[in-house]
Amino acid sequence: MEDVPGASVGGDGTAPLRQLLALQDADTLADQLAYRRRHLPEQAALDLVQSRLGEMDRARSIVAAERAELSVREGELESETATLVARSAAIDERSRSGSAGSYRDQQAMAAEIETLDRRRAELEEVELGVLEAAEPLDVELARIDAERAPLDAERVVLEQDVSAATASLEVEMAETAARRAPLAAGVPAPLLAEYETLRSRLGGVGVARLVRGACEGCHLALPATEVDRLHRAAAGEVAHCEQCGRILVP
Ligand SMILES: [Zn+2]
Repeated sequence: MEDVPGASVGGDGTAPLRQLLALQDADTLADQLAYRRRHLPEQAALDLVQSRLGEMDRARSIVAAERAELSVREGELESETATLVARSAAIDERSRSGSAGSYRDQQAMAAEIETLDRRRAELEEVELGVLEAAEPLDVELARIDAERAPLDAERVVLEQDVSAATASLEVEMAETAARRAPLAAGVPAPLLAEYETLRSRLGGVGVARLVRGACEGCHLALPATEVDRLHRAAAGEVAHCEQCGRILVP
């Protein structure tokens, strides 16, 4: 039996190739786990919920800005009204105290109070209009908040789901990585280097089994004479699929 460098002690010449196939299986599993981690259905659902929440927040901020403007206007009107009330009370106070004596003064003060009252009534009208305009905005804000609440709760649950799914995949990935190291150690360095090159070039698959006359890497059937030659080749001889170029193990 031919001795192949790197073959396990007492093993036959095919040991490095068997080891390489086991390594390929571990690498394929690692690639699948990494793919699943990048394409978690929980993450896709979370992304959807977050984008809907984002839309709601944008809609809410437009309404809230409009409502805030009305609140400012409301404050201005209230403060103007308070000034009028204070002024009117001061004049009233003065007219009752008798400090302004003449009939003409009394008349002037009564006229001013009347003007202030008219202005106050006008402001009350305007304020009423502001409150009326604010009402549908408040309803809309409450509606958005009510709609947002369950979606927000859904987001929290999905975030937990994503964390749990990621953690579980990471455990599997760590286990696969731990299994890979001793497998790689059992493959001679030049063969391992060739495998890595092929793997990076050929979609993650560098070595394939020959199953029922077909390469499992490219799934194409090999000519019968080639299959025959592969089966009769010396144990441990590194052969390649003539169609895809992958290392082929009969
Ligand atoms: Zn092939």
